[in-house]
Order: sequence, then C-alpha cells, then structure tokens
Amino acid sequence: MMKLNIQLFAVPFHKVSKTSKRMRRSHSAMEVPGMVKCSSCGEMIKPHRVCPKCGSYKGKTEVVKEAE
Ligand SMILES: [Zn+2]
Repeated sequence: MMKLNIQLFAVPFHKVSKTSKRMRRSHSAMEVPGMVKCSSCGEMIKPHRVCPKCGSYKGKTEVVKEAE
C-alpha cells in the first residue's frame, strides 16, 4: 500500500476583499525621513533643527559649538 504524503495547510475561510487588504497595508509603507536643504551651507538636514554642519538656524541665527 502506498503512503500518501499529503500536507494540510491553514486555508483562509474567506477571500480578503480589496478594501480589507488595502486598509491592512495602510501602515506597511516605508517611512521616509523629511529632509530639507540648509539655507546657508546646502547640506541636507532635518527641518526645524540647527544645522549640525554650520550651526545656523533659519538662515541667520548662528549657534557656536561649545568647546569640550
Ligand atoms: Zn548648514
């Protein structure tokens, strides 16, 4: 007698609708960090933060790095 090699898998009971699939995947998108160009040196920096390269903020305000 031949041995039947049948594997049973969990089968979805209902077909997932397009709306359900899309709603589930609404959180799956990759997040892209928002980056802006520094107005004084042109480096790509995070918005609303002092530029780590030249220490400027909003074009004019300059922040001097503290000596350690
Ligand atoms: Zn800069």
